[in-house]
Amino acid sequence: MTGAARIRSAEVLVASPSRNFVTLRITTEDGVVGLGDATLNGRELAVASYLRDHIAPLLAGLDAHRIEDTWQFLYRSAYWRRGPVTMSAIAAVDMALWDIKGRIAGLPVYQLLGGASREGALVYAHASGADLEDLGDSVRARLEEGYRAIRLQVAVPGMGAGYGISSGRASGGRYTYEPAKRAGLRVEEGWDTARYARHLPGVFEWARHEFGSEVMLLHDAHHRLTPTQAARLGRDLEPYDLFWLEDCTPVENPEVLRLVRQHTVTPIAIGEVLNSVWDFRTLISEQLIDYVRASVTHTGGITHLRRLLDFAAQYQIKSGSHGPTDISPVGMAAALHLDLAIHNFGIQEYMAHAPEVAEVFRTSYRYADGSMHPGDEPGLGVDYDDDAAARFAYSPAYLPAARLVDGTMHDW
Ligand SMILES: [Mg+2]
Repeated sequence: MTGAARIRSAEVLVASPSRNFVTLRITTEDGVVGLGDATLNGRELAVASYLRDHIAPLLAGLDAHRIEDTWQFLYRSAYWRRGPVTMSAIAAVDMALWDIKGRIAGLPVYQLLGGASREGALVYAHASGADLEDLGDSVRARLEEGYRAIRLQVAVPGMGAGYGISSGRASGGRYTYEPAKRAGLRVEEGWDTARYARHLPGVFEWARHEFGSEVMLLHDAHHRLTPTQAARLGRDLEPYDLFWLEDCTPVENPEVLRLVRQHTVTPIAIGEVLNSVWDFRTLISEQLIDYVRASVTHTGGITHLRRLLDFAAQYQIKSGSHGPTDISPVGMAAALHLDLAIHNFGIQEYMAHAPEVAEVFRTSYRYADGSMHPGDEPGLGVDYDDDAAARFAYSPAYLPAARLVDGTMHDW
């Protein structure tokens, strides 16, 4: 029988290889190391402080094997509950403890979660363009890389860049889109919902004509529509068979999706800014969504996201985890272990990190033919290089804001 694995230290590591990442490293008295991702894009240092100043002192001496008990202790003993800062901090501890348990057991985390339910996790890539020609090039590049599911975003004529439009390829041809800007803390973008909603159906009509019916197509409306606008857009997109329409309305009022559902059968994905099973209660129990966008990194870790997805499974709702480049390789690995194990897996978002990221995080997950596998190394399968990280100092970066054409602040 395995004895206790007492926690010796919990260190918060902040580094910026091309973008900011916060990583928690827990070490046991026997020297076993576990990593957790605590990156909250644009608010990184809030989580770093929560972990360093308020959680690390509580962890010393606890048994790293007691994952559920530690989760409940951190959640309940804080008294103040939920929210992205708290839930990202707890997530980092949870991931690190699963990593430690796997390393001690000599098993990859997905084996501890019940073993593989599939050969690999279907991922979707991003494609975008300033116009249809540009978007077409971007889609063709993703198809050549083997992706079978692609999110399309395109600039709306007369409206500037719009959400999700890459400003160009990175060196080596890697697709890059990073909305958090280091230059200028108050970046603002213009937005016109009516213009966007008129333009988008024609884009997907073109895409189906250009790329056929087989490729899975997704789109992210990024919380910018009213319920009636969302209902109408979903209906207008129905002929083009979207895999999902994401974040069609702001998510604070989940009840508004009742109206959207009454008018369209375009699948709905929502929830990347939510962070607990309780936030999803109405969305799931009323079957107002088809896919849960919550991530391991922002939703209390593997333990809590598993609980949320098990709840969703009772309603035939599937996973569709958030996975842009502000999810660190540790968070991506944790997501892939969970994706492989759960029954109601839907799809995983994936954007390749910049090459500098691989200097700091050594990963063992792999991509082939539009799917990913977490690999078979014990634990999460990610190692952290302190010497490399020291070359990339933290630098503030903030997400943009959006204003309507008349100057009114809008949802970004
Ligand atoms: Mg999104």
